[in-house]
Amino acid sequence: MDLYSEDINKLIDELAALPGIGSRSAQRMAFHIINLPIDRVKRLSSAIIDAKQHVKYCKECLTLTDSELCPVCANEKRDHSTIMVVENTRDMIAYEKTGKYEGVYHVLHGVISPMNGITPADIRLKELIERLKGDVKELIIATNATLEGETTAMYISKLVKPAGIRVTRIATGVPVGGDIEYIDEVTLTRALDGRTDL
Ligand code: ZN
Repeated sequence: MDLYSEDINKLIDELAALPGIGSRSAQRMAFHIINLPIDRVKRLSSAIIDAKQHVKYCKECLTLTDSELCPVCANEKRDHSTIMVVENTRDMIAYEKTGKYEGVYHVLHGVISPMNGITPADIRLKELIERLKGDVKELIIATNATLEGETTAMYISKLVKPAGIRVTRIATGVPVGGDIEYIDEVTLTRALDGRTDL
């Protein structure tokens, strides 16, 4: 890697730190960027900066949005007493695409993972508990069917149940280890319909 100049190395390192990009792809991308006309590179970098600066967290559900309230939370026709807990904004979008869910969401921005040092305090649980002080009838836990997703579901269930709120878990139509983001809409709808009480 020392064969490259310091600036190229820096670019490769930044790209390689992104999810899903290994050092080979990072090198390929770095050289592609260097060969682009300068205005294309400027457009790319300002798109990154604009997205970072303008995108904020919905003040209700914490999904990434560009307004105070995301379109789901701002919609009065949605059932605000049913909250689906998801790991991230991508999973929320996956459920929105089914068009079959009428409640609202809560985005955790992560899952509890003792192995990776991620504790309940590191995800947006405090905000969820705060929301439960309002009129909430059901909490549908739609974390992924991974060890971390299950751990998080059990943790939330134990935390919330004493408050007398119904806690359900989406059915196992979602394959173990499967990523909600990549599951088709029919399976997601079936998983939602077949949810069971925790
Ligand atoms: Zn929202």
